[in-house]
Amino acid sequence: MKRLGRGERLLMDGATGSEIQKRGGDVLKGSTPEWLGAWSATANLESPDIVRAVHEDYLRVGAEILISNSFWTNRLRLEPIGQGDRWADYASAAGRIAVESRDSVKPDAYVFGGMAPPCAEKPDWKVPDAGFLGERVLFDLFAEEAGVLKKARVDAILPEYVGHIQDAVVAVEASATTGLPVFLGIRHVTNEGTMQYGEAIPELARALKGKPIAGVLLMCSQPDAATATLPGLRRAFDGPVGVYPNVGYMPLAPLRGKTVKEGINTLGVSAGDFAVRARAWVDMGAQIIGGCCGTGPEHIAALKPVVKG
Ligand SMILES: [Zn+2]
Repeated sequence: MKRLGRGERLLMDGATGSEIQKRGGDVLKGSTPEWLGAWSATANLESPDIVRAVHEDYLRVGAEILISNSFWTNRLRLEPIGQGDRWADYASAAGRIAVESRDSVKPDAYVFGGMAPPCAEKPDWKVPDAGFLGERVLFDLFAEEAGVLKKARVDAILPEYVGHIQDAVVAVEASATTGLPVFLGIRHVTNEGTMQYGEAIPELARALKGKPIAGVLLMCSQPDAATATLPGLRRAFDGPVGVYPNVGYMPLAPLRGKTVKEGINTLGVSAGDFAVRARAWVDMGAQIIGGCCGTGPEHIAALKPVVKG
């Protein structure tokens, strides 16, 4: 927080789930054409060596922040694949592997304990998880997962892949029960500069005012959408801001019968292209910059000279 307060920029890691997948780890356990399962959660116990290797590779190319592989290590997401009772084992392993990787390769790096809302199946995706499940249910889900990550010695909590203002407020408050700094990752922002379903960034900033929040990051969005949305976030939010966009999902996460053409497929964004875009994010005031789905160590290596100057 001191470094960010001084205006320093920090290089974040790239994708974990899709990178585990590229290296042969199973991230589609229990998934169906309609439902993505628990994504990379199960890899923490089934292929911990792959998870560790991904973290270590990011640190070796200069990442100063790792996000633990705990995206969907929550009870609700693991229940349908018969692992609901073991959610804490998966979350704990995710935190431990990230912290151990950091300790062995780059002790001055930071580990953010990442966790996503369960994205419950609902008739209308515009309805927030907090509205569908109830705020109390979502709060408890985030708070218990954040507690396990804290025990695993992560440095900060990062509720990420949050798509609604209501969910963001619940996630931040639940994460803050750990007493650790809380960063927030907002998913799928748009080329119009809004949140996924049209909610305005200034509204988000207003809802977060006075909440214990250390920074807001635009994540898992297409690079151009992040570029379109970042200036508005910079204007609306007082604290540190950042970005870690994706370079596409398909065909990594096949879902709802979408073909590569219909799904987000920007896998043509090379590491060099990504770094060129990052120049604009630096100019717009981003202090934490990394990558999400589809990015790998080559993207983070390319970002380093841009982010660290
Ligand atoms: Zn992503």
